[in-house]
Amino acid sequence: MSVTKEQFIRDFKDALHEEHLIKIPVATPTELFTSLAKVIRKYYTPKWLERNKRLSDDQEKIAFYFSIEFLPGRMLETNLLNLGILDLVKDSFSDLGIDFEAVKNAEHDMALGNGGLGRLAAAFMDSLATTGYPGFGNGIRYQYGLFKQKIVNGHQVELPDAWFGSVGNVWEVRKDHDIVDVKLYGNVHLEMNEHGKLIPIHENSQTLRAVPYDVPQLGYQNGIVNNLRLWDVEIPEEDELHYPTLEARRKVQDITAILYPDDSSYEGKELRLTQEYFMTSAGLQTIIKYYLKQGRPLAKIHEKVSVHINDTHPAVAPAEFMRLLIDEYGLEWQEAWETTVKTMSYTNHTILSEALEKWDEGLFKKVLPRVYQIILEIDNRYVVKMATDGVDPNIIEKTRIVKDGQIHMAHLAIIGGYSVNGVAKLHTKLLQEDTLSDFYAIYPEKFNNKTNGIVQRRWTQIAAPELSEQIDKVIGCDWRKDIHQLEELKHYVNDDTVLNDFYCVKQKAKERLATYIYETTGITVSTQAIFDVQVKRLHAYKRQLLNLMHIIKLYWDLKDNPDKDVVPRVFIFGAKAAPGYHFAKSVIKLINEVANLVNNDVDLKDKLKVVFLENYNVSLAELIIPAADVSEQISLASKEASGTSNMKFMMTGSVTLATLDGANIEIKDEVGDDNIVIFGMTKDDVYDHYRKHDYYSRGIYENQPVIKRVVDTFVDGTISDVVSEGMEIFESLITHNDEYFLLEDFMSYVEAQEKIDHLYRDKKVWSQMSLMNITKSHKFTSDDTISQYAEELWQIKK
Ligand SMILES: *Cc1c(COP(=O)(O)O)cnc(C)c1O
Repeated sequence: MSVTKEQFIRDFKDALHEEHLIKIPVATPTELFTSLAKVIRKYYTPKWLERNKRLSDDQEKIAFYFSIEFLPGRMLETNLLNLGILDLVKDSFSDLGIDFEAVKNAEHDMALGNGGLGRLAAAFMDSLATTGYPGFGNGIRYQYGLFKQKIVNGHQVELPDAWFGSVGNVWEVRKDHDIVDVKLYGNVHLEMNEHGKLIPIHENSQTLRAVPYDVPQLGYQNGIVNNLRLWDVEIPEEDELHYPTLEARRKVQDITAILYPDDSSYEGKELRLTQEYFMTSAGLQTIIKYYLKQGRPLAKIHEKVSVHINDTHPAVAPAEFMRLLIDEYGLEWQEAWETTVKTMSYTNHTILSEALEKWDEGLFKKVLPRVYQIILEIDNRYVVKMATDGVDPNIIEKTRIVKDGQIHMAHLAIIGGYSVNGVAKLHTKLLQEDTLSDFYAIYPEKFNNKTNGIVQRRWTQIAAPELSEQIDKVIGCDWRKDIHQLEELKHYVNDDTVLNDFYCVKQKAKERLATYIYETTGITVSTQAIFDVQVKRLHAYKRQLLNLMHIIKLYWDLKDNPDKDVVPRVFIFGAKAAPGYHFAKSVIKLINEVANLVNNDVDLKDKLKVVFLENYNVSLAELIIPAADVSEQISLASKEASGTSNMKFMMTGSVTLATLDGANIEIKDEVGDDNIVIFGMTKDDVYDHYRKHDYYSRGIYENQPVIKRVVDTFVDGTISDVVSEGMEIFESLITHNDEYFLLEDFMSYVEAQEKIDHLYRDKKVWSQMSLMNITKSHKFTSDDTISQYAEELWQIKK
């Protein structure tokens, strides 16, 4: 959009006066923020209205992306950047004497997600708007986002994330005219109507009101605004008598109160099932109503609507869609089923079995009695159809939806849709060959890969402004609109001046992070050290513990030989552990106590520092990632479906230290073997151990003195205040046979780390590696990933 600085300043002052009745010098950052948001809303609102009208007038097909998590982080800078006025606003603020950083920091992260899954969903929203595809989000308006993490005495403490704060969500718009009701509980029986048709009668149910709030998703400088619709729950006025106490009302509000703080694992709670059904049913109901306004036949809804199921949380969608089509709109089973399968598609995000949702049949039947009946019918018909098609009875039994007293949600999503995709090449291959191989044998045509991506604009233009300016200087500004232009940087890998300029940009980012580290932890770090970073959710398979073991090895090396010639290192961690995940919390405690040990030991002569930054979230990621020299992506091969932080690091010039897992493999294919450091077992090595049952960690421990010394450090009193946690870690590695093969990978990891030390000493070589990573990172833009979903799956048009 075009606005002059003078006009913007007038608009901003007007907003400040109207909203807060004050002038700039006395306004708080929050007041300045809400006023700025008001101006931004004014700027995009006409475009938003126009977009909705256009799509409805033209009867364009729309894809609806259902996800129980969206993790956008802050929206202010993205909205300004995408409107094309970020620099203008920064300039204006500087003229007005306003600290833009302070205003930016007044916005609370929108943290309606745990980690990668939710971040991906948010990235797709941005990319859909940017590429211009009509794709809308559908999720939950949690009152509290992911918990706020404090570190107290080295332990994680969880506090509620009251992200609405005093100002609420400044971007959302409540849409009363799209309110729908969602029914739970009660009992259902079938009655014959006058036409001899069986009609379900649902009695004694609980009715909840689903209220949508729309959050605009602005495309990058293209005038397009899409919708992210988040559902809140309310008690219908006519039912208020059923909720006479505050306690009873609170039970309802609980449905949208909190995001489940689980990552890659499954929390078997009635409330969780209710959340999942609530947002799925509400979303599908409004979609059908919207479609019917076009006056088209319901049996052809797949021609105008696509519904995407992001992981299994919204996987009740095919069954709920069937319920709506049949019970509410009178379609016959067969035509309802055909259109349902053509409407639904599903993304699998993990092969960890604890994250593939299964519901106890009794619980499911109690909460969703009618949907349960429909699932039984889908399951029955599936079994009959497969038997008719001559499928092996064992395979039918393994793949059916209802078995062993449980409802298998991934099976419902696969049987009830036309597409199943994994999120990186290796992950999709593993789904086909292992996790979902029986389904792959039945429906090979449904399987496909869509490697994850990131919103390059957030990780360069917003998080790394100096880097962005440097790229402008070398190849011009076109890359800001067309990220593939980054490829042009490859012509400069031997240009010493350019290499040095990029090196200086990284130093600036390191200085910023060093200041933040000092201010928040009191730890002093040198920007001459290698910043070696592992930031992601804390999970055993991601192996933060392997990183810590290497730190302990370095500690002993330096204690034995304080003059050892090593490049100084700062190891930086950021990670939240699920509150019920005992092991993960113990690892956090150990990292913090090893940090205490190392940072306060003068013998080490500042060659080794360890920093744990609390409350890792998107905003902190934006500060940390551009400052990293080394990106730690060290999950056990086969366990990380894709990873996306690996891509963010690469794009800002970090060198990846990685196992051959997830998208690390694709990163390696892009940058070449010389520009990445790979170590450890392959997926085949891992699967060989599973097949042969021949892994024995105690044998490695006993035969390898370096490893023995490191592992013993957890329990020999070297680290203070970790008696039970140290023992727990020791037992996981030795007594419980080291589920994620840390000991087998340890020596290879140490060697890889030595290689990093060696490479970093040659400033030119390191700078070349760094630049090649930036150059090739364009491959991982979520704009391209989403275009593949749009064209290959959803068949929607720009
Ligand atoms: C990108 C991102 C993630 C995902 O990190 P992985 O290393 O891919 O697991 C998690 N949390 C936040 C805040 C992120 O920005």
